[in-house]
Amino acid sequence: MDLVDQSEVSAKFIRVEANRCVSCGLCLPHCPTYRLTMSEADSPRGRIQMMNGVASGHIPLNKKFVQHMDRCLTCRACESVCPNNVVYGQLIDEARAMIIASPVTIKSSTLAKKNKLRVFLEKELIAKPGRLDVLRSPIRLSQKIGLQQWLQQLNFLKKTKIQSLISQLPPVMEPCASTIDQKTSAVGWEETYPAIGKQRGEVGLFLGCVARLADAVTINSAIYVLNRLGYKVHVPSAQTCCGAIHQHGGDVVMGALLTRQNLQVFETLNIHTIITTASGCGVQLKEGNVGQTNMASEHNDETGFTLTITDVSRFLVTAEGWDDVEIASLPCQVAVHDPCSLSNVLHGQSYPYILLARIPSLRISSLAGNDQCCGAAGTYFFDQPEMASKLQADKLSAVKQSKARYIATSNIGCSMYIASGLQTTDVEVLHPVTLLARQMGIQ
Ligand code: SF4
Ligand code: SF4
Repeated sequence: MDLVDQSEVSAKFIRVEANRCVSCGLCLPHCPTYRLTMSEADSPRGRIQMMNGVASGHIPLNKKFVQHMDRCLTCRACESVCPNNVVYGQLIDEARAMIIASPVTIKSSTLAKKNKLRVFLEKELIAKPGRLDVLRSPIRLSQKIGLQQWLQQLNFLKKTKIQSLISQLPPVMEPCASTIDQKTSAVGWEETYPAIGKQRGEVGLFLGCVARLADAVTINSAIYVLNRLGYKVHVPSAQTCCGAIHQHGGDVVMGALLTRQNLQVFETLNIHTIITTASGCGVQLKEGNVGQTNMASEHNDETGFTLTITDVSRFLVTAEGWDDVEIASLPCQVAVHDPCSLSNVLHGQSYPYILLARIPSLRISSLAGNDQCCGAAGTYFFDQPEMASKLQADKLSAVKQSKARYIATSNIGCSMYIASGLQTTDVEVLHPVTLLARQMGIQ
């Protein structure tokens, strides 16, 4: 599909869907960007009206329009409260696709301002994440010898985007080994991890792109817990990035392609469920899977996948085998941060709390301000650092007030962004399944 056709597909969808908005304004108090700027143009209602105006040719696709679209976090808090079920998430994705396809505004768009290096990295590294594993050893070495901390302190890097990326990278871990002798796969993880004891089922585990490097600890923990509950875990090496970065960056065609590629890989296995440990990836795989999106219906001609895509906490809450494991007590406080993707889209925000409640003596609370995005929002913290840092500051202040020892969150993007603001404290940000695996004895 060429850019003109793509622009028209996006505009057509916007014209139909935007007309379903009745301008009631119920979504406005839930929108983080509206709360920050108090501008109608930074509210969902305002953005929908502007998208419709541009898609209908009534207002120009100019710098102002692009700025207000760029400022949207795609947190979808508006969508979750809309009484008319306007699918805002698809609207903003299509608006960005329309911007990318437009020769008029290309110079003023954050999306279009991506330099050649970033476009190259998204295409050659993020979309082919097996290559990220090559970086694991050099990054581990740089962390071991203190290079990462040294780079963070360099004056000329202070407050730059590079420094922001470096400061967010947590200690990089190695993939775990299987308990039986298996051929090591090309991605570092083995193709299968057998159940320990009686096998109760088989599941697929999605690695993601950034997560496979920055969040191996969560992936290893998920495998550890699933194996001990009696589930054989498949980790196919042919899986790739979920496509969310491309989808929300206006490249809906690449987003759909990557989603489909993953589902095809998992469809060949003897499983019914794909488990995700990052709720952002879960949304992308799930929405592509059920074919609800314009992306799937217009840009993707194959939507007949049958697998269930489930967040790891949700799966574990209903899993069997708990009577066969021991969980050590932990007399500490954990505050749970609800990622937007988990609460506003997957509606699975209750499961991390239920899962953590399996740890004896753990005191569990909800982080104040959980209805507002933390500012990470995929690459938003990188593209819109001023807006993002205001949202991050609210989150850090909520963490301080909580007096919690641990902050549990189910999305690696949120985890890294919140943790980067807590480096001088002893508060630890981690996935709920990581805390659980520790209490079950993971080393
Ligand atoms: S997705 Fe989030 S930031 Fe964007 S309009 Fe909706 S509530 Fe506001
Ligand atoms: S709540 Fe829904 S219908 Fe009302 S203004 Fe927001 S998007 Fe439009």
